[in-house]
Formats: sequence, structure tokens, C-alpha cells
Amino acid sequence: MNIVYLNGNYVPLGQACISPLDRGFMFGDGVYEIIGIYRGKLVSSREHLLRLQQSSKAIKLPLKVSIKHWEDIFYELIKRNRAENKNKYIYLQVTRGVDKKRTHIFPKGRVRPTVFVMLGDVHPPSYDELSKGYSAITRNDIRWSYCSVKSIALLANVLASQEAEGHGATETIFIHNNYALEGSNSNLFVVKNKVLITPPKSKRLLGGITREIILKLAKQLKISCKVRNITKQELFDVDEIWVSSAVRDIMPIIKLDNKLVGKGKVGPVWEQMQQAYQEYKVQQT
Ligand code: PMP
Repeated sequence: MNIVYLNGNYVPLGQACISPLDRGFMFGDGVYEIIGIYRGKLVSSREHLLRLQQSSKAIKLPLKVSIKHWEDIFYELIKRNRAENKNKYIYLQVTRGVDKKRTHIFPKGRVRPTVFVMLGDVHPPSYDELSKGYSAITRNDIRWSYCSVKSIALLANVLASQEAEGHGATETIFIHNNYALEGSNSNLFVVKNKVLITPPKSKRLLGGITREIILKLAKQLKISCKVRNITKQELFDVDEIWVSSAVRDIMPIIKLDNKLVGKGKVGPVWEQMQQAYQEYKVQQT
């Protein structure tokens, strides 16, 4: 049975109910996080929860919950779902709660945020699958200009992911003013002449936790690294492209808009980073 957490209670998913007047349902007025679970242990949960605080602050939704409190909920869910040794992910969502009527203006007085947490399944591809590589497409970025906030309003990302799926691709890379920013649910890395490059954090992209881990590992591995803007044209002239996220790890992209990336095979820098990232996850357990 899938046990989820809703506003202080652990209940089977089928019994978790919220009002249609919840502002998450009405307006997408909320924030979320997704945290990997590796062999029953949370991966970088502190960093994810600090980002949650930043997101909720940015949308003026006060959250007075400690990291310890969140982690207690996560481990209780892991226990209740018998996932102590499993690879899963935590999905957590906080909305501005249920109002008495539909109005854009924040609810007056004390409104309790709606807090929902559940476990999700991950299906990590095997090394053999990963090393075949994936394809991606590019599209103009039609999102708002606050992409550093992990908002639950994800319509543009949903449409972009669906479009990738329709092209047999695994990700859509967003282009804004001729710069490649990130994927619809991942950050972007390229490798050119053995230098690893990723766009800088800004309001136009999400500061991924996996992105930070990759940058840290690159330093340890002595891979030279540049954080700078990447033009769309440059994307078609690099040796390797990867996309990264807590749920999908680091995926090598070998085809972009139907053109081969580099030699059309996964590259040596990805191989090195993929191994280091798997070791990093083991160290967390
Ligand atoms: N950018 C976007 C738009 C995302 O949705 C995600 C996945 N949450 C990421 C980047 C990667 O972030 P993280 O490494 O923290 O999962």
C-alpha cells in the first residue's frame, strides 16, 4: 500500500483528499522538491530543503519547519512503505492552503499551508542502457522569468517534456535569447576539448542540487570546469552533452535535434563523472 503524508497524517494515497479550493489546485500557488533516495537513504536532503526554503521565501509563503522535522517525515514514510533498502524519491509539495473563495489575493488571516509528501519509484537505467546515450530536442523557453523558484506551476515544462516524448527524445533543452539554459526537468552540461561547461545560476534556471554535486566532483577529479553561458550554436559543436537531475542522475545526450553530438557516442568525461557520481551516492548511505 502506498502511504503518503498529508497535513500531519500518514494515510493511504487513495484516502488523501484536498479541497478544490486549495490554491495549489486553483493557481499552481505552491512550491515543491524532489529528493533522491538511494538504498533507503536520502541523497543531499539538506541542500534540497534549503532550496525549498528559498523557493517558499520567493513566493512569500512562510514555512516554519526545520530540516530535522522534514527528514523525520521522510524516514517515517520510507519505514511505512518498507523502502529501507530501496531506491526511490521523495516528492514534497507545499501550497498556500485552502481559501474560502477563489481569489488571487493571498488568504486573509491564518491559513495553514497544505503539505503533501509521497514516495515515488525510480527506474535507474542500467549502465548498458545509459551508455547507449539519449536524444534531446531544443525549444524556445516559454516559461516565466522566475525559473530559479521550484514552483509547482509546470505547464511549460509539461508541454516541453511531452514534445520531447513525441520526438522519441528524453529531454527538451530550453533556449532563451539564443542561450541554452537547462532541460525541462534537468540542468545542462557540455564538454568541449575536455572542459566541462554549465550555464551560470540565474533567475532563468533552477540551481540544481545534482549540478552542484557534479561541479564539486569535477574539482575533485581535476576536470577543468567553466560556468558560463552556452549559445545554441555552440551546442552543435561540443564533444559531449549531459543533463542532470536528482531522479535521473547524469544522462548523456548523443543526439540533439536529430544531429549527432560529437562522435554520436557517450564521451570519456561522462564515463568518469558517472562513476564518481555513483560512488558519491554510495557514500551517502
Ligand atoms: N532544472 C529543472 C527545470 C528541474 O525541474 C530540475 C529537476 N528538479 C533540475 C533542473 C535539476 O535539479 P536537481 O538536480 O536538484 O534535481
